[in-house]
Amino acid sequence: MSQRNYLVPYPQRGSIFGAAELDALSEVLNSNLTLSGGAYRESFEKQFREMVGSRHALSVTSGTVALALAINLLGLQPGDEVIATPQTFKATVQPLLDLRVSVRFCDIDPNTLNADPASIEALITARTKAIIIVHYGGLPAEMDRIMRLARARGILVLEDCAHALGSDYFDRRPGSLADIGCFSFHSSKNITTLGEGGMVTFDEDTWLERLDRMRSNDSDADFARAAHRIGELDGAPSWMVYVGNSYTHNCVTLRHAGTNATLAEPNAAFGIAQLSRLDRLVKRRRENAARIDAVLDQFPFVRRVVEPEGVANAYHLYTFFVDPESGANRNWIVERLAQHGVQLQLRYFPLHLLPEWRARGHRVGECPTAERMWFDQQINVPCQPSLSEEQFGRILDALHDVLTEAASRNSTV
Ligand SMILES: *Cc1c(COP(=O)(O)O)cnc(C)c1O
Repeated sequence: MSQRNYLVPYPQRGSIFGAAELDALSEVLNSNLTLSGGAYRESFEKQFREMVGSRHALSVTSGTVALALAINLLGLQPGDEVIATPQTFKATVQPLLDLRVSVRFCDIDPNTLNADPASIEALITARTKAIIIVHYGGLPAEMDRIMRLARARGILVLEDCAHALGSDYFDRRPGSLADIGCFSFHSSKNITTLGEGGMVTFDEDTWLERLDRMRSNDSDADFARAAHRIGELDGAPSWMVYVGNSYTHNCVTLRHAGTNATLAEPNAAFGIAQLSRLDRLVKRRRENAARIDAVLDQFPFVRRVVEPEGVANAYHLYTFFVDPESGANRNWIVERLAQHGVQLQLRYFPLHLLPEWRARGHRVGECPTAERMWFDQQINVPCQPSLSEEQFGRILDALHDVLTEAASRNSTV
């Protein structure tokens, strides 16, 4: 695939930039202030939590790190069970491989590729401690039903919002719909913080200090004033003793060793400029999506993701489905689009079938709908604002031509 010369290579950037971003960068660089975690980061986090509607938002260096640190806050113990969607990027559940918990992959809704609440409910046991979902492609999952299941049983819910910045769910925002939300500002995402970045959102006040420690080289631990002599530290001068994680305190419970995941100031400043552009970026994605809709609606053997009432899709991914009953072949369509110069990336290979999860006993047949959709039906078409009008026009033309060809092939089969 990489050998081919595409007229429209898959766009590795999701967002667009302008004078606001460049001005923000030059302001930071000319400021003489720290480049590593200061006022820009705080301001980015404040704007972000106000926009999402969560009490807290803490930035980190990637969506993957956001998920790894957030999963730590769930307090999972060996033997606990976690229910997770298999139709997402592998980073959503990867940290669970390092914990001695068992993961039960739920099945998905064939109309949206989001976790199916009925399948989640069927997997709940007395050991279920957490549910991890994604808002696939930017279309919010059925959070009311999922949260009702979880709240009734004291189960924590984590939303992977990597696609859902700019989505709406009954006048609320993903990242405020469950216990904890994780965002990505990777180059391909709805906004970027100069290529890499992430955010964790939540309401729980006790998590604020814990997460802040973890991301900034302190342990996630409870500390108590040392009751006994710690070597030379007894009688330490007052400048050595600071509140909380003090050299002179004892570590009571150690939950996580911590890491450095500080979002740097240039990235945060860039993120602030991108946030003020978010509405326009999402509007552009929706306009592009409507133009793809208009092409697809001419072909009865394809079906597209439909927004339920009260829900707005941010269209991180544009997704449609080929009806295999019609005789149309998904793989043929993807290959033919490539021959027309349009490079697609299909997202996502069902996680339970990745080697690391098969090594944990997961098998074909575990999530029949997720498997059927991935292997036979789902297609993603680029709709990023970064596409030029010429590139996007080519995508629409190629789609029209290839589906017309597929239609005449079907009728001769
Ligand atoms: C991009 C993405 C991530 C990981 O984010 P990074 O910032 O690239 O580490 C996690 N989950 C989903 C669903 C994603 O699309």
